[in-house]
This record gives sequence, structure tokens and C-alpha cells, in this order.
Amino acid sequence: MTNKINNTESLLQQISVMSSVLDNIGSYVFSKDLAGKYTYVNANVEALFQRPAKYIIGKNDSHFFDLDILDELLENDRKVINEKVSLTSEETNVIKSTGKILTYKVIKNPIFNDIGEVIGLSGISTDITAQKALETDNQNQKHLLDVVLNNVDAYIYMKDAERRYRYVNSRVAELIGLPAKEIIGKFDHDVVPPKYAEHFWKSDKIVFEKNEKMVMNETLEDADKKVHHYLSTKVPFQLNGDLQTMVAFSTDVTELYQLKEKFEQLANTDELTAIYNRRYFFENANREFKRAKRHQQPMAVISLDVDHFKAVNDQYGHPIGDQVLIKIAQLIAPTIRAEDIFARIGGEEFSILLPNISQSKSLQAAERLRELLDTNPILINNNIKLPIKISLGVSVIKASDSCFQDLYSRSDSALYKAKSHGRNHVYLMD
Ligand code: GH3
Ligand code: MG
Ligand code: MG
Repeated sequence: MTNKINNTESLLQQISVMSSVLDNIGSYVFSKDLAGKYTYVNANVEALFQRPAKYIIGKNDSHFFDLDILDELLENDRKVINEKVSLTSEETNVIKSTGKILTYKVIKNPIFNDIGEVIGLSGISTDITAQKALETDNQNQKHLLDVVLNNVDAYIYMKDAERRYRYVNSRVAELIGLPAKEIIGKFDHDVVPPKYAEHFWKSDKIVFEKNEKMVMNETLEDADKKVHHYLSTKVPFQLNGDLQTMVAFSTDVTELYQLKEKFEQLANTDELTAIYNRRYFFENANREFKRAKRHQQPMAVISLDVDHFKAVNDQYGHPIGDQVLIKIAQLIAPTIRAEDIFARIGGEEFSILLPNISQSKSLQAAERLRELLDTNPILINNNIKLPIKISLGVSVIKASDSCFQDLYSRSDSALYKAKSHGRNHVYLMD
């Protein structure tokens, strides 16, 4: 008798321990009989249905779940009971009391009696709503990223430190001429002609070596030998913990680059004569002046002005005057050394900057120009021959010069002197 009581007590104690464990398991634990009525629910189920166990036990799911999902739920229950199988599934339930949509991972098992007959089922449901939402979020994010990366007007790729492609967007795939999945995992020399592979690697490698974000210009010839300019941003990127990779974004800026070059050229060029303009002359002259000073190198300026040019305009008109200025520039330009800067300063006045030249050589150069004009009449429209003369002022850099303007003013004064000496003349200002 005492033994039986002891046994009962120990059993009750075991049940109490078990139910405490089940109440704290964090999942919904339940059992049902063959009619689908609950025979056990843990505390989580009570909380979910917002009813005490004694209310829930003896009732079936129609009391607690919406009809829409009831069918699927019962179908699973029937399968476990009829086929005597364990079933793992995902169930989406709408809770009647709150209207909340929840997703569960459900494991259901048949319960057998002593003689092996199925008498019901047990179930453990774990709420994976948050996990599912995260998965959906991740999928949406990945989709968004794919759409962005494949539609942006840039070449985007990821490469590891061993030169293996880890990612390419569709622009890169198009450029290489292979589907992205056939490029990823390959070395760049497997998919790109050796010349380009080396070129890419040279700039990619710098990013790995420096291990910092780099912005660079890259130039590449395409299959038709057309030169393309790219602006590339390359960023080191740590993938899966320790794998060193870099992500690169390259934009084809060829058109912009050409426009920039064209604008630069326009900004530096005199519209009428197509030689350098005043802006370019002084910008470079100031720089050259500083360099000459630093290296204590000689430097000269020749300023020249067309003699009696007003008379040309008066006699033949302004358009012919323009033609004369163009011809003068064309006559002088070929005689200028590569390091010299020949510019139209304004009107019918020109200047030449001559770095690294002695006083005597610069005087000779000026004299040659005077003679060039003196002995070559300007031919306009193949019928007007104009005996155009020029006057020239020469100055050379002095230790006391503090800026280019000092040197330039002297060439201007020299020019004035050349004019007052009767024109068609060279004058040097010490
Ligand atoms: P000088 O020997 O003293 O230099 O006499 P000049 O007639 O050349 O000198 P002046 O400065 O009196 O006249 C310069 C003329 O050059 C006046 C101006 O109309 C003309 N001129 C200036 N710029 C242009 C231009 O772009 N085209 C034409 N056709 N004429 C110009
Ligand atoms: Mg003049
Ligand atoms: Mg003048």
C-alpha cells in the first residue's frame, strides 16, 4: 500500500516536473485524441489561445483557428494518424482572438497505446514568424540589390586577392561576353584577354596592397581600338570573415573626358588664329617664371605688334584684317620651339614665352621673326599681297624680377621703343 502511494507520488512528481519543463520550452506543445480534441496543452498554448488549459482540453481546433486554415491543419493531423507517420511542416495560422498571422514549424507524431494502436497525436509548434519575416526581408533586399546593380550604368565587380572574380554585374558580363555565373570563380586571365587582364590586375592590386579605398582613372582600348576612359572606385571588402576581396565600380566617362578636353582646349585657344590665347599664356608664364627662378634658368619674352595695322583695316576692311592676323599666326607658329608658348594677347599683338634661352639667342629669334615678315608679304585670297611688318620687344629674366609681370612689362616697353625707332624693328630692354 505504502509502496503504491510512493509510486503514485513519484509519478505525480515526475508529471509536475515534465509539465514545468514543457511550459518553459518556448514552443507550443500539445496532444490531441483521434477526434481532434485537445488532451494536453502547455502554458504557451494557453497564452496563445488566451484560455486556461481546462477550457481548451476537450475542444477541437475549430474553436481556436480560422476556417481558412483549418483544413490544412486537419489534413496534416489526419495524415499523422492515418499513415502513422511523423510530419514536419510549416503552418500559417490566423489566431481568432487577435487576428495575428503567425508561421510555425510544426512537428507532429502519432501517439500509440500499449498494443500499438494510434490513440492521438502529439505536436510541437515553434513560432518562426520573425525568422520568416527576416528571410523575406533578405530576399527582398537581395532582389533590390540585384535590380540596382544590374541596371546602374557602371561596371561592378568583386575580385579576391588571388585574382578570382567573386561577383560581376550584368554590364561586366556583357563586356566580357559570358554569363555572370561563368565568370564568377574564374581568374581574370581566364575570361579577359591577357593584355586587359594584366591592365585590370595592375590597378586592382594597388587596392589590396594599400588596403584602402581608391579612386582612379583607367584607360582601355575596346575591340575596335577605340580608347575608353573609366572612372573607377575600388574598395577593399572583407568577405566571410577573413577572405580579402575588393569591390570595384567603373563608369565609362569617355564622352565626359572628351568634352573636358574639348573645353580645356577651347578655353586655351584664341578663336581667330587658333593659337594659344592670353589666358593660357599668362597662366603658363607665371608657372614657368617660378620654375626658372627656382632652377636659376634663363627665360625670355618676345612681344610683337603689327605695324600700321589700322591702315589694313581701313583700306581692305575688318574681315581682310582678320585674314591677315590668321596668316601672321600661321607664318610664325612653325618657327616656334616645342617648349615655347606663342599666344595672341589681344588685337594685333602677340607674345612668345621662351623658357631656358640666353639673351643673345632670344634676340636672334626675334630678329628672325622680323625678317620672316619683312621678306614674306601676306597673300590674301590669292590676289592681295600685303607687305606686313612687325615690331618686336625682347626682355630676359633678371634676378631682381619678383613676378612674371616684371619681365613682361619690360618686353612691352621694348616693343614701344621698337615702334618709336621707326617700326619693323627689334629692341631689347635690359
Ligand atoms: P602701330 O604700328 O602703332 O601698332 O599702328 P597700328 O595701326 O597697328 O596700331 P593701333 O593700335 O592704332 O591699331 C591697331 C588696330 O588693330 C586697331 C584695331 O581696329 C585693329 N584690330 C584690333 N583687333 C583686331 C581684330 O581682331 N581684327 C581686325 N581686323 N583688326 C583688329
Ligand atoms: Mg599695331
Ligand atoms: Mg597694337
